[in-house]
Amino acid sequence: MNTLNHTRVAIVTGASRGIGAALARRLARDGFAVVVNYASSPAEAEALVAGLQAAGAQAIAVKADVSEADDVRRLFEITEQQLGKVDVLVNNAGVLKTTPLADTSDALYDQTFDINVRGTFNTLREAAARMNEGGRIVNFSSTTLALNMPGYAVYNATKAAVEAFTQVFAKELRGRNITVNAVAPGPIATSLFLDGKTDEQIQTFAKMPPLQRLGQPDDIASVVAWLAGADAGWVNGQILRANGGLA
Ligand code: NAP
Repeated sequence: MNTLNHTRVAIVTGASRGIGAALARRLARDGFAVVVNYASSPAEAEALVAGLQAAGAQAIAVKADVSEADDVRRLFEITEQQLGKVDVLVNNAGVLKTTPLADTSDALYDQTFDINVRGTFNTLREAAARMNEGGRIVNFSSTTLALNMPGYAVYNATKAAVEAFTQVFAKELRGRNITVNAVAPGPIATSLFLDGKTDEQIQTFAKMPPLQRLGQPDDIASVVAWLAGADAGWVNGQILRANGGLA
């Protein structure tokens, strides 16, 4: 982490709910000024920001669809104007709809790649020019990439791309003292995982890891907070699975 005497600034994409919201709370608690990015949930994002501000943190909500390069440019510009240059970027925004590959529509393919891959690409490209020395970037992969379950072909393909970005970009930032890592969660109890599943399916997933439970958003927030903090300064270009031992 840099040694400048300023409040460190963190952008969390997709922070209106789920893992991103837990992350925004955790980073605010750790002393960061936090940008709560969202695409279509303004009420949740504003409520989260109000809560963070009430607890004494600096926080703003910024609407930006990460799949749109202009939106992402604006996200960084607003952040710089209101809070300062970015120290931590967490590429958490993502979508998942499971479907057999043969039944996947062009629209679903495009949406999944646009948000999960192009969205991460857009923020990384912007970050390259704009982040402070000593910064931290944390991308989001998924343990599903290791499981190869039917229905996850397109989603896993997007997360494989994110892992590739992570490992190459870490090297491309040579000399900037910026680390680039990814976290690959197992099943976490958020709407992305829970929606559309029966109780029985949820229980099956919950029993899969040796720790025999679903992950909670805070389980991932603490891993990302570590990667974003001073103690993980020597960890770079790595994919960290956080999944209770599932794979
Ligand atoms: P979630 O509860 O569905 O939340 C997704 C967040 O992403 C929301 O805040 C949503 O905001 C935002 N988002 C969606 N499209 C966006 C866009 N185009 N631009 C900006 N923000 C956008 O999902 P989650 O479970 O917290 O997942 C977070 C990350 O973890 C994802 O990358 C996911 O692939 C990964 N992951 C999750 C699990 C799991 O089991 N939950 C496991 C492995 C990996 P709006 O509502 O405002 O659009």
